[in-house]
Amino acid sequence: MFKIAKEFSFDMAHMLDGHDGKCKNLHGHTYTLQVEISGELHSEGAKSGMVMDYSDLKAIVKEHILDKMDHAFIYDLTSEKESKVASLLNDLNSKTFGISARTTAEQMAKYIFDTLTDVGLPVSLIRLWETPTSYCEYTNC
Ligand SMILES: [Zn+2]
Repeated sequence: MFKIAKEFSFDMAHMLDGHDGKCKNLHGHTYTLQVEISGELHSEGAKSGMVMDYSDLKAIVKEHILDKMDHAFIYDLTSEKESKVASLLNDLNSKTFGISARTTAEQMAKYIFDTLTDVGLPVSLIRLWETPTSYCEYTNC
């Protein structure tokens, strides 16, 4: 079994409704995202010797994660307060993206893992750095 990974970076704004500290306020992060996939090598053809072409991995992550989340206000669809902020931003033609969970590094890592798995990527691990010194890892084992 081989594991390959690629790193990405994206910026976003969020707030944590109900947080007991400064994270309840609207603020932003530059995230580093590491997507690891696992598998055996292609044995023939253009992708021989590869688990997956890094450029194909990049294209899938770009389409399903980065294009939606980069420079967006990412919010918890179940939070009334965050949904109000998103609604105002939508009215102002500003980018938003809702997920059905609080937008902690943990929940976002799980969302990214599940989303990429659902589109057929053999994801084995997601690492998401919220700051250069803080990251969450989500794996299926
Ligand atoms: Zn934050």
